[in-house]
This record gives sequence, structure tokens and C-alpha cells, in this order.
Amino acid sequence: RYAINLNVRGIQPSSTLRINELSNQLKAEGKDIIKLGLGQSPFPVPERVVEALQKHAHEKDYLPVKGLKGLRESIAGYINRSERMRCTWEDVLIGPGSKELLFLLQLAYYGDLLIPRPSWVSYAPQARIIGRSVHWLPTHAENNWQLTAEELDIICRDDPSRPRILILNYPSNPTGCTYTDDQLLAIANVARKYKLILLSDEIYGEVHFEGKHKSIARYYPEGTIISTGLSKWAGAGGWRLGTFIFPSELRPLLDAMAIIASETFTSTSAPIQYAAIAAFNGGADIDDYLVQSRRVLKVIGEYMHRRLTSMGAVVQKPEGAFYLFPEFSSFREGLAKRDIKTSQALCTALLENTGVAILPASDFGFAPDHLGARLAFVDFDGGEALALAGGDYAGC
Ligand code: PLP
Repeated sequence: RYAINLNVRGIQPSSTLRINELSNQLKAEGKDIIKLGLGQSPFPVPERVVEALQKHAHEKDYLPVKGLKGLRESIAGYINRSERMRCTWEDVLIGPGSKELLFLLQLAYYGDLLIPRPSWVSYAPQARIIGRSVHWLPTHAENNWQLTAEELDIICRDDPSRPRILILNYPSNPTGCTYTDDQLLAIANVARKYKLILLSDEIYGEVHFEGKHKSIARYYPEGTIISTGLSKWAGAGGWRLGTFIFPSELRPLLDAMAIIASETFTSTSAPIQYAAIAAFNGGADIDDYLVQSRRVLKVIGEYMHRRLTSMGAVVQKPEGAFYLFPEFSSFREGLAKRDIKTSQALCTALLENTGVAILPASDFGFAPDHLGARLAFVDFDGGEALALAGGDYAGC
């Protein structure tokens, strides 16, 4: 006899991982599947980073819980160089993926979770597993799916001293949209007014198509934690390395997370931490890799945007990351005749009838009948694309 924790009942395994397994299974059965479900970087890990991993393959020791000092220094250097926040190595925490660190944060901090709708698939289930309340903040397609300072204020003024975490992810999974400086400043001012903990999920911070990625930490340094990692800009999602960078004011939270880490995963594996030093130290080769990968993703994102728009879908042009979040409301009547009334039914029918795997809007916080979906435009040979982008790219 056993009982499953009530918080876990009714939660499905993460939809991105499920769609990936299903697509792989269908492919193995010989079906022609276009994998636009899982948001995995299509690019190979930069060569120098792979070499660093190989060089340290024999390192077998448990590392310090908060991470290797050399890696924490390297990440502090990276964050200072990119002018996101002023920090030292002691402000940096390493973990096996930013997803795991986010879970630790929610375990360590007592408070409600505020997230814009739509948001990445794992924020809300993590909060539910821990038993925290989730408040979805409305955003709208015609506003580029950007949270406004006003919407945030409306939620917070209700109970101004309630402890809360706001997660802001930009460039965004699932919309590909990002924020202007002015918008970040306005949101930061509200966050300060209500003393929110602001988790700035910048895992796609290097994957922006125009200009320079800027962090909201510039405007709310005392309350912002930056989240990033190797998964999206260095192609190493499966290696599992993420990092949080804290302001010194929130050091007790870092320490509390490290206590939980010490009683759970202990530390991230050594070879990967050494490899991450090479990635975060950067250099001309990494800069080239980033320039070329942004170039490739921009071209594909714009192409997909044109195609979807010409079909009649409503969709924002991506400004970063590798996602599009189209709405198919104009097809509602035709789809209803085929008994397709939910985004989940739409995605199932697409996979069965065309072999295209995408994720329903319901996985990102919308009601089942919101006819939208997320496309991850990553089903191409990233190595070949980088070679093309670096070479005779004209008109790719
Ligand atoms: N945050 C966002 C918005 C993501 O899309 C992902 C991965 O898909 C993550 C965090 C987690 O990344 P990782 O755990 O690989 O660092």
C-alpha cells in the first residue's frame, strides 16, 4: 500500500519531454516526423567546450555544493562583462540545469508565484508540486505578449505585503518576444514597490536577433536573480548545467538553496563544470558561434513567420530564442467541423495527419479552447547551418 503525494496527482510528465519521446518513437517506427516540439538547441556544442569536457573526463570528485570556484569566477566575469549586474563569484550558484535551480528557489522561498500567460511549461507545475499558489498575469498578442507594469501592479496592490516571486523570461519561451529597456524599467519599478523577488530567466539571453540583450537586473539590482545556463546558447541542454546569480542582498536565499542542494543532488558533475568555464570565459570562437547561430535562427524564424502569416495564423515575429506562438482562431469553424475544438486536439491531429509535432497553447497556461500552439523551429542540422552561415551565406 502506498499513496502518491496529492500535489503530484493530476500533473502530467513535462509536455516538452513527452512530445520529444513520442516524436522519437514515431520516427523509429519509420514515420516521417518534423520535430517542432522540444525546444532544444539545434547547434553542436562549440569545439573548445567539448575539448574541455574531454580533458576533464577523469575528474571524479564531488565538487563544492555551490559549484567550482573557477566556474563561479568565470560566470561572474561573464555577467559583469555583459553589464547585466555587478557581481562577484560568491554571488553565483551552479546546479544541474536552471530548471533544477528554479525548483530549489521555490523550495527555499515561501511565497506565491507570479507568471505571465503564456509562460514556459515547467514554472507552474513546479510550484504546484511544492504546494505554492500560481497567479497568471495576462498578456496579449497585439502587445507582443509583453507583461505590462500596470497588470503587475493590479495583482500586487491587492495584498501589497504578500511575499511573491515574479518570473520574467525574455527572449521568451514560448513567444520569441522580448522587452524594451523602458518596459523593463517600468516592471522593475513595480517589483521594487512591492519588494518582489524577481527571477529574470535569461536562458535565451544570448539568442537575440537584434541589438544587445539587456537584463532587468540593471533596474532592480537588489531584488533580481538572473538565471542562465549552457542549454540554449551553447547547445548543451543534455549536459545539465545551469546557474543563478544573486544580488548580495539575497545571499541568505542562495545559502538556503545550497543547503537543499547539499541534501539532494550534492553538486553538478565535474567534467561539465570545467567545460562550462570554457564556454563562459568566451573568446573569438564563441563570439563567432553566437553570431552565426543568431543569424541562422533569425532567417528561419522570419521564414516561418511569413509562412504562418500567409496561411492566416496570427503570430509575432520572433525577436529571439527559437519559438513561434501562432494562434489559429480564424480556422475555428473549419476545425470544429472536424471535431477539433482544443489546442490539444489540434496538435494531436497535426501529428497524426501530417507528422508535424508541436505543443498546444494549453501547456503554456491557456484554457483548452484557445486555438494556439508553440513551434520550436529547431528541426534542422545545426552543424551544417553554422558552416553555411559562416561561409558563403548570401541569401541562405
Ligand atoms: N527556462 C526556460 C524559459 C526554458 O525554455 C528552459 C528549457 O527549455 C529552461 C528554463 C530550463 O533550462 P535548463 O534546465 O536546461 O537550464
